[in-house]
Amino acid sequence: MDYFNYKNGKLFVEETNIEEIAEAVGTPAYIYSKATFVDHLQKIQKAYNELETLICYSVKACGNINILKFMAEMGSGFDVVSGGELFRALQAGGQPSKIVFAGVGKTDAEITEALDAGIGYFNIESQAELENLILLSQHQGKKTKAALRINPDVDYKTHAYIRTGQKETKFGVDIEHAVNIFEKYSDNENVNLCAVHVHLGSGGKTIDPYVDAVKKILPVIERIRGNGHTVETLDLGGGYGADYESDSVPSASEYAAGIVPLLKDKNLKLILEPGKSICANAGVLLARTVYTKHGGSKKFVIVDAGMNDLIRPSLYKAFHFIWPAKVDEQFVPPKRDKDLQIDGSEVVDVVGPICEGSDFFAKDRALPPVKRGDLICVFTAGAYGFTMSSNYNARGRAAEVLVDGDKFSVIRKRETYEDQVALEK
Ligand SMILES: *Cc1c(COP(=O)(O)O)cnc(C)c1O
Repeated sequence: MDYFNYKNGKLFVEETNIEEIAEAVGTPAYIYSKATFVDHLQKIQKAYNELETLICYSVKACGNINILKFMAEMGSGFDVVSGGELFRALQAGGQPSKIVFAGVGKTDAEITEALDAGIGYFNIESQAELENLILLSQHQGKKTKAALRINPDVDYKTHAYIRTGQKETKFGVDIEHAVNIFEKYSDNENVNLCAVHVHLGSGGKTIDPYVDAVKKILPVIERIRGNGHTVETLDLGGGYGADYESDSVPSASEYAAGIVPLLKDKNLKLILEPGKSICANAGVLLARTVYTKHGGSKKFVIVDAGMNDLIRPSLYKAFHFIWPAKVDEQFVPPKRDKDLQIDGSEVVDVVGPICEGSDFFAKDRALPPVKRGDLICVFTAGAYGFTMSSNYNARGRAAEVLVDGDKFSVIRKRETYEDQVALEK
């Protein structure tokens, strides 16, 4: 469910015609729907309300401070993975006690920043990190809480680059090791190790891995408690499915239906760290067609956005539904689908301007006829879109726009050439 719909062949974001935004702001631009963010967050909050649950929206998925701001106002906490994200979350008015900090390589500087801020939990990825956190908090006279990230070793069936919950991974520790770490460190005065963190990866499409993970982790928590230690919170991480194709993933309430019954009466608070399930279909990347051309038997649609703006197709072979922003009535897409084929379509590659063969958004895709100047919308680009963008080829990063009903505002200006060289002077 999102708020990007065609009306009379024109793509609207909520009540705003996307063409108006392109005319005012230019292209390429990331365009977000506030109502979609709000809808997803509220549905998750509601789905888990039988348990004491804190949603910590994952900043790395889409971290503009204007977005974080309204998420914080709606009660969201934040999952951060760097000092920069912590800074963003705090700038946006995020409540420190609702911030959790994950990541395998937290530096002393980042740990100190988070200790100073007074965050909720450090999500600890190794014994070495825990020892360092204890050292730093002792030196600085600080107290904090920590969650140990455990690998439940379940099969997540996603792209290898975004699969993190198995034994052979740089993330977290395995179950036996985890029990020993609680034995050794949970009585520390400065660092209260009192929670367990699990994050399976990103891009899941079914509930099963979560159910399996909870079933594997609960006995571990019981073992740790049986040894006399406190486990007050289970942080189940993120990775819940996002709707890249219409209705292709479980809803928040379907996930909750699998997870909540397992955790009832277990005396555990729950933390969830959803990223893309909240923001993916809350944003699109809007580009303009610069040229079309034929190469051999192929037609190419060359747009003014490139892999520097949205790297997911190149990096993960990710699918994004792509469609012109204005079409004749017969070409209004009934759903977003990999194989959508409407009579009169042309099979094309949609590519960017960058000097790399991997600079493409779609290959062999059936689209309504496209000509120079047409606006092209790359859907479901809200997650890991802008946040993974770069200045490659000295291209300024795209503008970001937030739509709220029939109004829109630029929440990040388009980078200028001057912006790009400023730090080099
Ligand atoms: C990336 C990440 C998330 C969010 O993942 P999504 O797939 O966007 O939901 C949550 N927690 C941790 C620890 C992460 O690294």
